[in-house]
Amino acid sequence: MEIYVSHIEKRSWIEINLSQLRANYIIYKNSLRRDVDIMAVIKADAYGHGDVQVARMLADMGVGLFAVSNIDEAVGLREAGISGEILILGYSSPVYAQTLYDLNLTQTLVSETYAEQLAKTGYRVKCQWAIDTGMNRIGINANNLNHCEQMIRTYAERLDLNGIFTHLCVADSSDEEDKIFTRNQIEKFKLLADRVADLKLPYVHCCNSAGGLSYIDNTEYYDTIGRIVRLGIVLYGLKPDYSNPLPQGIAPALTWKSVISMVKPVAKGEFIGYGRSFEVKRDSIIATVATGYADGLSRLLADKGFVMINGHQAPIVGRICMDQTLIDVTDIPNVCMGMSVTLLGKNGDLVYTADDMAQDLGTIGYEVMCNITKRVQRFYVNSYQDYL
Ligand SMILES: *Cc1c(COP(=O)(O)O)cnc(C)c1O
Repeated sequence: MEIYVSHIEKRSWIEINLSQLRANYIIYKNSLRRDVDIMAVIKADAYGHGDVQVARMLADMGVGLFAVSNIDEAVGLREAGISGEILILGYSSPVYAQTLYDLNLTQTLVSETYAEQLAKTGYRVKCQWAIDTGMNRIGINANNLNHCEQMIRTYAERLDLNGIFTHLCVADSSDEEDKIFTRNQIEKFKLLADRVADLKLPYVHCCNSAGGLSYIDNTEYYDTIGRIVRLGIVLYGLKPDYSNPLPQGIAPALTWKSVISMVKPVAKGEFIGYGRSFEVKRDSIIATVATGYADGLSRLLADKGFVMINGHQAPIVGRICMDQTLIDVTDIPNVCMGMSVTLLGKNGDLVYTADDMAQDLGTIGYEVMCNITKRVQRFYVNSYQDYL
């Protein structure tokens, strides 16, 4: 039985502002040339935002191209009625050939061995070749153009090949060497795309969010390889790299909130939490927040992170527990049980995004988002708020 309570009575929850997501999509798209198509990257549950909800919203806006990481994500979208093209960016065991075929999914060919095994199943699965232009993750190596061309032609016969793509691994960097590397990746990919132009493959693409921001207008290669951008992180209002400026108006669409379960005085000289790692330096008021590392709040934030409450920063004290976190609210007036706190998002005049938290953790916003677990319920709101 589900007990109905308003989402502000939950323990730890996320509010996703669909209007902001829509704005991010429109602003990003408008920053590109008019006829660029967006392939929305909604892998990992749309970077934690809920893939079905995000896909439905985008489909309503006319987006017909989606990318996910694996077959389970793709099947979930089909079951939810998403009918556009769905590209699976990573490996699906060849035993799924029939599912791929029946659900009209497009599978990435990650290697020659893989392509051979998939073709041997006898299903003419829709597919795209991954072309490795220097990342050395998946795909056939673009340094051998003759061989790549041969592979593309072979599998255009044996499977239902509808595209080729490569991945730019330093498109978010402003370092001169990295820029040369990226242009070189694009150049290699273009040479290959030209060789197989006669196949008229509909999906030939190389840009992720960062590539679309920095490379698409600069490249004379636009007509062949720049017509589709795989938009991931910037759709969610986060940055590929912390140093990257985003187009005006793009902002995070997500607010992570939790609730105060208890407030109490703790005397100077006492210790807080597991390991007694934090010694209270003055008579303090300590509050308990009903979110912990099992919700995705990293333990690495102990003694350096904070949560926001009533427009103030309340420092995290002691170790973060599985389901609870302790904060010092001595300097914040009127904190009481049931009050909501903000872990990510806007609170009063304060803004703390997944990118900011990632900086504090020494990681990237992508990982912060993906680490927020499923038990943190997602709620969808439509109000337009200015986050930044
Ligand atoms: C995840 C992914 C993307 C999206 O990258 P962002 O940096 O989030 O825009 C694009 N292409 C491939 C192959 C990916 O794996």
